[in-house]
Amino acid sequence: MTSKIKLLDEKLINQIAAGEVVERPASIVKELIENSIDANANQIVVEVDRSGEEKIRITDDGVGMSKEDAILCLERHATSKIATLEDLKNIKSMGFRGEALASIASVSKMKINTKRRGENVGTELFIDGGKLEYVKDKGIPEGTVLEIRELFFNTPARKKFLKSDNVEYQNILDVIINAALAYPEIAFKLIKDQRPIFDLPKARDLLMRIRAVLGKNISDDMIDVFYGGVNMKMTGFIGKPSIARASKNLQYFFVNNRPIKSHVLSYAVKQAYHSLIPKERNPVFVINFDLSPELVDVNVHPRKSEVKFKDEREIFRILTSASKKALEINILAPKFSYDQPSNFYQEKRPEGIAEQLNFNEVKERKHALVQSDQKNDQMAVASETKYNPVTEVSNEKSFLDEEIEVIGQFDDSFIICKKGENLVLIDQHAAHERVRFEMLKSEDESKEKVIQNLLTPISFELNHQDMDILNSNKAVFESIGVSIEHF
Ligand code: ADP
Ligand code: MG
Repeated sequence: MTSKIKLLDEKLINQIAAGEVVERPASIVKELIENSIDANANQIVVEVDRSGEEKIRITDDGVGMSKEDAILCLERHATSKIATLEDLKNIKSMGFRGEALASIASVSKMKINTKRRGENVGTELFIDGGKLEYVKDKGIPEGTVLEIRELFFNTPARKKFLKSDNVEYQNILDVIINAALAYPEIAFKLIKDQRPIFDLPKARDLLMRIRAVLGKNISDDMIDVFYGGVNMKMTGFIGKPSIARASKNLQYFFVNNRPIKSHVLSYAVKQAYHSLIPKERNPVFVINFDLSPELVDVNVHPRKSEVKFKDEREIFRILTSASKKALEINILAPKFSYDQPSNFYQEKRPEGIAEQLNFNEVKERKHALVQSDQKNDQMAVASETKYNPVTEVSNEKSFLDEEIEVIGQFDDSFIICKKGENLVLIDQHAAHERVRFEMLKSEDESKEKVIQNLLTPISFELNHQDMDILNSNKAVFESIGVSIEHF
């Protein structure tokens, strides 16, 4: 009887493994950046052509490899990072499985240029679909350049799974932004289709890096969070309620500098905001947990994007309580001002807020939407009811739902209302935005657009993700009469 079971050859094994590790161009970028980080690079340059399908090239100034190591690194389970089971339980590096390069090489054409620090001559290797074509000496700078071309050329089924260039590019951008936020001390450069996208110098601290990556609008409104325990330390920043967003795309969570996706932990941070942000908004945060290795298993996911905590409840508790504390100190502490007469009842606005709020004011006057949980539905009524911009604070019932009575205004920001036994606070700015939004929407539907050009254009800064969203929605803005130019 002949056996039906066969041992697969090495090349096929690598291609199968590649299915797990090398899902898409972004996963390659992630593996290669992690290798550069593990090689102690000070600077990492990422170049992608056609969103990585045509070319991915990562250049670092890290420790480099000797010729022997450069040949060995292509073998499956070849790693310089762990040697024993003890090491596996104590992982300090980003990589540890020794399978990324073997997998990537098996589904692409890969060129490696590498030179060890302090050595005279470097090495060039070329691997075609997993087969080492040549190795030669080469005079090159210290560090490593890994170039991947024709990704998935020999696995057409995988190639078919790739999404549009834009989606693949977004994923790559996400990987680089995560790495840049996890390692502010490393300089990162991104070049897309030969055009520089960003050049992040080595940052003094995380906040400086947040500013460079997420923009000043975000970094100006971040508050720092801290928790220090024996085996775990939490550091980072959470956004003030005013910059909470509709999406969760500005939530960065790291465990020992490893980017982790976790709905549970995202929820833990949101808990801390309680009623400071409406239910459907999501806080911005960049948080790193430093845990001693025995408290976390990083070896549970093929692309290492999930981890298993020994005690997730404890992490959850710390996240919520440290964030809450930071918010209490920075947001909830009452602001007293003795030199200001208490005139907020009498103060009347001469014109409608619509005319009064210019762009800078809008930026400056970001206030939290304060409301208790039971009153959510009332707030929803107050925004959704159409009314003229508030011209003055009065006891008139006209501009809101009949049952809501306006009793005053606070700090030029909140409209104080009474509804039965309940106190309702309306964020004037948020309500105003909503009214404008509804106006634009109904204009768009009715096709009766009233467009007035601004005397002086407004310039503003955007982070890379928002820039991309803007670019892909330019037509929408144009259609509602907002013309935007890159500057
Ligand atoms: P792992 O990172 O899990 O060890 P990889 O397949 O990603 O596995 O890399 C294999 C080995 O190649 C690494 O352990 C490291 O010694 C070496 N290596 C990979 N990339 C670099 C680099 N950019 N600089 C220096 N050495 C590298
Ligand atoms: Mg690796």
